[in-house]
Amino acid sequence: TPKNYDVVVVGSGGAGLAAAIQAHDEGARVLIVEKMPTFGGNTIKASAGMNAAETRFQRVKGIEDSKELFYQETLKGGQNRNNPELLRCFVEHAPQAIEWLANRGIMLNDITTTGGMSIDRTHRPKDGSAVGGYLISGLVRNVTKRGIDVMLDTSVEEILCEQGKVSAVRLINDENETLTIAVKSVIVATGGFSANSEMVVKYRPDLAGFVTTNHKGATGGGIALLEHIGAGTVDMGEIQIHPTVEQNTSYLISESIRGGGAILVNQQGNRFFNEMETRDKVSAQIIALPEHYAYIVFDEHVRAKNKAADEYIARGFVTSASSPRQLAEKLGMDYHAFLATLERYNGFVEQQCDSDFGRTTALRNPINEGPFHAIRIAPGVHHTMGGVTINTETAVLNKQQQVIPGAFAAGEVAGGIHGSNRIGGNAVADIIIFGSLAGHHAANWAKAQA
Ligand code: ADP
Repeated sequence: TPKNYDVVVVGSGGAGLAAAIQAHDEGARVLIVEKMPTFGGNTIKASAGMNAAETRFQRVKGIEDSKELFYQETLKGGQNRNNPELLRCFVEHAPQAIEWLANRGIMLNDITTTGGMSIDRTHRPKDGSAVGGYLISGLVRNVTKRGIDVMLDTSVEEILCEQGKVSAVRLINDENETLTIAVKSVIVATGGFSANSEMVVKYRPDLAGFVTTNHKGATGGGIALLEHIGAGTVDMGEIQIHPTVEQNTSYLISESIRGGGAILVNQQGNRFFNEMETRDKVSAQIIALPEHYAYIVFDEHVRAKNKAADEYIARGFVTSASSPRQLAEKLGMDYHAFLATLERYNGFVEQQCDSDFGRTTALRNPINEGPFHAIRIAPGVHHTMGGVTINTETAVLNKQQQVIPGAFAAGEVAGGIHGSNRIGGNAVADIIIFGSLAGHHAANWAKAQA
């Protein structure tokens, strides 16, 4: 490896890979450093898709949407705590980011919805498969094709500054060898800290004992790296629990199952809430149930449209039965109540009006096509909305809101975009939008230093 680079990218999730590709395409010499043995970070586990409004793929499907509505719904979902400039930037760049991917052979041209969004704007691969694996393999293909340097099993331990500007990074590999590389800029794209239970509990004592959906690299080390050179942080206590996690394996059950038409029922066989509400609200309702768990219930129609459902069946999460009565019996549920719940819900679908809980989206199909399926779920720690402070150019800001020259951050490591609740489909949008912006700005900064 050369001893100096224009841009060092820390982390190989979606944000890091997008940043590296963009910086390379603008002429920068780029190195990606990833502490785990494989690419993909937590992004590889992303299931729902990528939100964007006013895209070409929405137009093809005749979906009318507006950036303004996307902005308002994200702000509402984040309980008005989102940083308005970052959120504006996010919404404005989202359709371009969909095209940025398409231009690199990554097509997200099937569209569904997630909780808190009133319009179908969650873009995913055409075959209905999970977005994360598809996205990472496409991005890695682009990295490889460009011959961008990569060091796996290597962690960035320190960012060094000279005269107030980023000047070098100190790396350590899995054989404990350290290496210092001169750099003009660094892009920190190290993800969140959901897998660091000590850090989670420090900010949120109420989350002690919760499982996490995250990969084990999600330890928040990037936040400390940047704090060490003076970065400020924001919203550190805003930690999202995802409502639907299989508890024995901590495996996330995608919101796209509900988005495809599934419902939630409790152990008594009753619906208890609007399934398409935001994650914070749905989670709170499940925690409030006497059993602290619920079931996702769907029929064959929903299964056939979701690749993820087959994955859940293969992993043994799904209880299936040929009739609703049989399904209720297998789940130890009162079948009269369960049958009444289905009948009532199917009536709501027909009238397109949920008079019990006001569900307005994904009232797609009646649940009436056997076999019938159920997955037992409860909430788990899923996303850390807080992180280091950045501006709309992804420059890292210190505690006085001043730019730290040469330091950039993108993705879950950065705070402020999602307020107090991240909407499903907005993390993938975040990493591609701010990842590619970070690549652009870091490459420009490096050029200006030459
Ligand atoms: P995002 O969704 O924001 O792109 P991800 O969780 O997908 O975030 O990816 C972050 C990646 O950064 C993970 O693969 C993680 O292992 C890696 N990472 C975290 N800390 C370091 C570090 N100090 N040095 C190198 N890689 C790191």
